[in-house]
Amino acid sequence: MPSVREVRSKLPSTGVSIFATMSRLAAEHQAINLSQGFPDFDCAPDLVEAVARSLRDGHNQYAPMPGLPALREALADKIAALYGHRYDPATEILVTSGATEALFSTLIALVHPGDEVILFQPAYDSYAPAVELAGGVPRVVTLRPPAYRIDWDAVRAAITPRTRLLLVNTPHNPTGTILDAADVAELRRLAGAHDLIVVSDEVYEHIVFDGARHESLARDPELAARSVVISSFGKTYHTTGWKVGYLAAPAPLAAEVQRVHQFVTFSVNTPVQHAYAAFVRRDPLCADLSPFYQRKRDLFLSLMAGSRFRPLPCRGTYFQLMDYSAISDEDDQAFALRLIREHGVAAIPLSPFLQGAAPGPVLRFCFAKRDETLEGAAARLRTI
Ligand code: PMP
Ligand code: GLN
Repeated sequence: MPSVREVRSKLPSTGVSIFATMSRLAAEHQAINLSQGFPDFDCAPDLVEAVARSLRDGHNQYAPMPGLPALREALADKIAALYGHRYDPATEILVTSGATEALFSTLIALVHPGDEVILFQPAYDSYAPAVELAGGVPRVVTLRPPAYRIDWDAVRAAITPRTRLLLVNTPHNPTGTILDAADVAELRRLAGAHDLIVVSDEVYEHIVFDGARHESLARDPELAARSVVISSFGKTYHTTGWKVGYLAAPAPLAAEVQRVHQFVTFSVNTPVQHAYAAFVRRDPLCADLSPFYQRKRDLFLSLMAGSRFRPLPCRGTYFQLMDYSAISDEDDQAFALRLIREHGVAAIPLSPFLQGAAPGPVLRFCFAKRDETLEGAAARLRTI
């Protein structure tokens, strides 16, 4: 047996995730937690009832490995209704243990040692470690504030003969930006010209503001034919703790991901899949979610209007970036720590989402919270 000191880390530069760290500190300091992205209100009572019913009905054993057929069929119909592309539920849809597992299994399955993967930063924290565990090399293109738009010339410059895959996230965590139709057209041209696989993290697909349309890659036939589109029930149904997500991809890609998925987790929580199948059927379009969160964003912005924080544009997700340069010249981690300790509000610094680029004086605040929570947090933030 090797001693503990002989164990070589596969992720030597990775610490504990910033989400776990900030939520722990928020609890320790009894701060109002606007850091980790999860609602502090409950999901629909009839969704809980649907899970309880499926538990009582005896749906308590392994689900089929790729997901419950009824759920995959409901998802195929939902995606067709929303984005006009019909995936085959038998071979092109996979139910996963959250979007996190969908991303991980996809990257482990499709990235080979030495393959380069284009990521955009600030990047969701799980992307680069998954690429590295697959033996791939992240090639990071930086999105610059305040617009954080993709610089397609920079993407072209980052592509090499080894580039295999490109990962986009729209609506984008943590910046709240979205891809528009022109971005999708650029992506189509580049992916086609360089024969790239595209992974599209669309977990906030139903949280898009001010009348904008979610540009799912499933809408674009050429991109859909080379993309893995990933979503999460946690965001859509206020159930982040249930950790169920899914992906849709053309059969040859889905089959490769499934080979990995069967050994990462085999299958996903059966009673919850039954409940989601009924809920996806009942309201496939989820058209109430964007107005629900837009009202929360606007409430938070109006409450913060009397503060010295300056909001950046937020077009989707449940995260609002705030510039604190009028308050402090501390770096974002130091300022976030002081905000918890001295002012009792937890937010997320952007530096853990960036490699080799300055984060700037910005923090991310989650507004998926009860109105009273937002009011309480803003009252504290207005005093700074
Ligand atoms: N991608 C993004 C952009 C996210 O914000 C999150 C987390 N909320 C995930 C993936 C992971 O989703 P899940 O909780 O379903 O694993
Ligand atoms: N996606 C959530 C966020 O961005 C956190 C997920 C997690 O804790 N891993 O805050």
